[in-house]
Amino acid sequence: YQGKRGTADIVVYSGDGIGHSHQWLVVQAELRHALERGELVLHYQPKVNLADGEVRALEALVRWQHPQRGLVPPGDFLPAAEHSGLIVPLTEWVLRRALTDQVGWSAAGQQWAVSVNVSARNLEVPGFPELVANLLAETGTPARRLVLEVTETALAGDGEAAARVIGEIAALGVGISVDDFGAGYTSLSHLREVPVDEIKIDRGFVSDVIDDPRSRAIVRSVIELAHGLGSRATAEGVETAEIYRWLVEAGCDEAQGYLIGRPVPWPQVAPEFEVPKTVSEAEGAVR
Ligand code: C2E
Ligand code: MG
Ligand code: MG
Ligand code: MG
Repeated sequence: YQGKRGTADIVVYSGDGIGHSHQWLVVQAELRHALERGELVLHYQPKVNLADGEVRALEALVRWQHPQRGLVPPGDFLPAAEHSGLIVPLTEWVLRRALTDQVGWSAAGQQWAVSVNVSARNLEVPGFPELVANLLAETGTPARRLVLEVTETALAGDGEAAARVIGEIAALGVGISVDDFGAGYTSLSHLREVPVDEIKIDRGFVSDVIDDPRSRAIVRSVIELAHGLGSRATAEGVETAEIYRWLVEAGCDEAQGYLIGRPVPWPQVAPEFEVPKTVSEAEGAVR
């Protein structure tokens, strides 16, 4: 199956419908080698506090530094990793690397937390909470400096089992974030069972708030929902100053997106982000 990037020689593995085809086995074998040879890398994207523009956390986003193909985005290999079970050692690698990097930037004077994405499959593997606890201990990272991002679909996954595993991880003091909220199987009932520290509003709604009243209504409601649950509301995919200002006025807590910073290796993360002026401030500056 040739995906969007089919013009290059990259095959997009959609996960479903490939079965045990030759290419499927090839990517699995390649991915196993990638892990062994250290070809995976993490880039980090900042999340800022909308009140002051300060970086609060960095989200780890995995890439494959392929010797021939260059930097391969996660959407091109994570489905194969999930199907083959390689997501288990991959997530362990990501967590260890991310926690080690967090210790690195703490030592450099930045108190940013680190956010790590986990797949539905990870929550099904026995001993995942113990793995998280062991990696925190191994790297010497305080639990409150780690946030795990889980999609709604993963929460819905095996219902109670996923909620129980998340509860165990939360009990360690690790933050729990619901990623891409509104884009998956919306199942508000899971929000009753899981202690949630952050709800990330899907980019699809955020990008439309200026032009589409319905998206505005949805974003406002999710912010209220997050606050009602005692969680932070974080907007994903913020690309313009206009959207940023709208989110400040709507009472959103944090934001992430290309306006603020693209994913980069952590030594390149710029700690200073210039907060877009509010409309009244901008007018004041003109006067
Ligand atoms: P996500 O966790 O929702 O991450 C946000 C994605 O949107 C990232 O794509 C990021 O580069 C992109 N993005 C951020 N800001 C903007 C923006 O302003 N505009 C636009 N158009 N895009 C923006 P990326 O890095 O390709 O990752 C895609 C997805 O792959 C992630 O979505 C996450 O679900 C998954 N993923 C990435 N790394 C990992 C990992 O280590 N483990 C697991 N299980 N999943 C991962
Ligand atoms: Mg995420
Ligand atoms: Mg997301
Ligand atoms: Mg997303």
